[in-house]
Parts: sequence; structure tokens; C-alpha cells
Amino acid sequence: MSKHSALATGQPSRGKVLVVDDSRLVRTIVKGILKSGGFDIEEAEGGARALELLAKGAYDVVITDLRMPDLDGFGVLSGVKRVAPHVEVIILTGTHAEDLSCAVRALRLGAHDYLSKPPSSRDEVLATVDRAVEKKRLKDANQRLQSELEALSRRDPLTGVLNRRALEEALGQETARAHRHGHALAMVMLDIDHFKRVNDTHGHPAGDQVLRSFAKVTSSVLREGDVLFRYGGEEFAVMLPHTGLEGALNAARRILCAVAATPFDVAGSVLNITASAGVACLASAGDGAELIAAADAALYAAKNSGRNRAVASGPRPARVAARVA
Ligand code: GH3
Ligand code: MG
Ligand code: MG
Repeated sequence: MSKHSALATGQPSRGKVLVVDDSRLVRTIVKGILKSGGFDIEEAEGGARALELLAKGAYDVVITDLRMPDLDGFGVLSGVKRVAPHVEVIILTGTHAEDLSCAVRALRLGAHDYLSKPPSSRDEVLATVDRAVEKKRLKDANQRLQSELEALSRRDPLTGVLNRRALEEALGQETARAHRHGHALAMVMLDIDHFKRVNDTHGHPAGDQVLRSFAKVTSSVLREGDVLFRYGGEEFAVMLPHTGLEGALNAARRILCAVAATPFDVAGSVLNITASAGVACLASAGDGAELIAAADAALYAAKNSGRNRAVASGPRPARVAARVA
């Protein structure tokens, strides 16, 4: 921790600020004001050093001089926008005639505010930096919220596994990768057998519990890299990168065996559940949508040939039918 750290005094930091100026005197004055106000301070004697520090540390605000011999204030501003876009920049303006117009130009380029140097008022400096810290923290909070929302929009709330939207995105990426590098890619579509009976006999909450347990059992037998999605209702999909038809058929049989062997404990009853699976691989399908359609057609064949089995898609329907014990 820096010797100028507010945290070292036991006080919560009001914000972490990087002060950039080639004049030691200016740095000392600004640092003194901010330190006395409870900010956590680091300093850099030039623009290049400032960008080095920014790439390594987490700052709320950069206060930078405009005229510096190596990289000037505009260079610092564009560097901040590139490496730490949420960090706010405050420009220090000197006494040169054109400094004010430069500060205005910096504002147009995304600087938060400017301060004259040497600073005329301690309160003005503290208030300006406070506003910048607040703005930066709001941007951080917004981004966190947005990431959480994005993650939630890809999850099925009932089972916690990824949803159909996530599957479509993942398939888009994986099919492109598979085509580019000549990798295999397979898909297993799973559908619980006679699931409607579970709801009709034991109630909808019991059906929900079966879906949660089904997702858990299925996940527990997947290989690393294989991903489970809830496709909708009582249908699930597994994407298997680097896997051909025979490998995916084995994975499907492993899932169906695990499901058939699991006692599903719901509403005081133990239910025996089975599922059917359709398997397809990218070799027989051009894109993600065709892969899903091929696996779906194989699933339909599995249902029609008696359920509790895995069927692989092929040039002709139902190339392999594997009954699960
Ligand atoms: P099959 O063996 O042919 O697949 O028959 P099935 O009864 O499993 O299939 P069907 O499509 O007739 O019924 C699926 C049922 O799944 C109907 C629907 O109400 C129920 N379902 C869909 N989503 C949910 C859910 O989130 N929770 C519960 N409890 N039931 C659901
Ligand atoms: Mg079903
Ligand atoms: Mg169904």
C-alpha cells in the first residue's frame, strides 16, 4: 500500500486518484489537498508512466497536466479511454493563453472536468474530484448490473442451467469454430418420457422438482466441455464440442442410464423417470439450426420406436437405435 494511502490511516478511502504532472511542486500541492480530504493517491511524473500505472492498478480518477515532455494530457486522456474507460479524467490547466481552449477540447474528448493550477480553492478541488469518483462508481455499478442481467437472461430460472437463447449463441460460435478448424461437433436432444403424467398425477410442483433433478443428474455425467441447456418444457440439449456421432451416442446412453437408475424423490413419492435422446453431428448438418433439427428428428424416431432410448441421426432415419436397460 502506498504511504499516501487513506486506508493506512484506518479511514475508508474517498477514492483512488492518480496525479500526473511533470512538476513535482504541482504534484505535491494537489496530493496534499487530496490526501487531507481522505483520498488515496499515487503519482506519476509523466504520461507514459501514468499509463503504465493505469494498466496495473485500479483507479477512480486521473488528474493530469496538459503539457508534459513525453506523453501530454491528450495522450493520457486517450490512453485512459483505451485501457480503463470507466476512469474519469480531470485536466489541470496552466497559465498559457491557449490552456483554457485546450481544456475545453479535452472536455469534448471525454474529460470529466478541469482545474486550474495551482489550485485556487481546496474545496473546489475536493468537490470536483468527489463528483468524478461518484460518476466513475455509478458507471461501475451500471456495468455490474448489466453483466448480471446478461448472465440471468442466459439462465433457466427453474433448473439453473443455460437456456435456449444461450444455446443458440453457443451453437453459432461452436459451429463457426468447428468449420474453421475442422473439429467435430455433436448435439444430443433429450426429452423426458411421459412427463405430462408426472404433472397430472403428482402436481406441477412435483413436475418442477423432476426437471431440477433431471438437470442435476444429467450434468453429473457430462464430460468437461460438454454443456447442458434447457431447450424448453421437458426438453434439454447437450452440446458436445470435439465429439463425433459415436461419441455423442455414448454420452446420450450414459445420460439415459443415469436418469433411469436414479430414484426421483418428489412429494413423498419415489418416481422412476426415463428419457429419450436424439443425436446428431455437424458432419451431417451445415449449421446450428440444421444440427438441432437433425437431433430433433432423431429424438422423434426414439419416441416412436418405444422411448427410453437414444437414436442417432443419419442419412437415412434412425441409423442406430440403442435401447437403455
Ligand atoms: P413424451 O413421452 O411423448 O415426451 O410425452 P410427454 O408427456 O413427456 O410430452 P408432452 O409434450 O405431452 O408433455 C410435456 C409436458 O411438460 C406438458 C407441460 O405442461 C409440461 N411442462 C412444460 N414445462 C414445464 C415446467 O416448467 N414445469 C412443469 N411442471 N411442467 C412443464
Ligand atoms: Mg416428453
Ligand atoms: Mg416434449
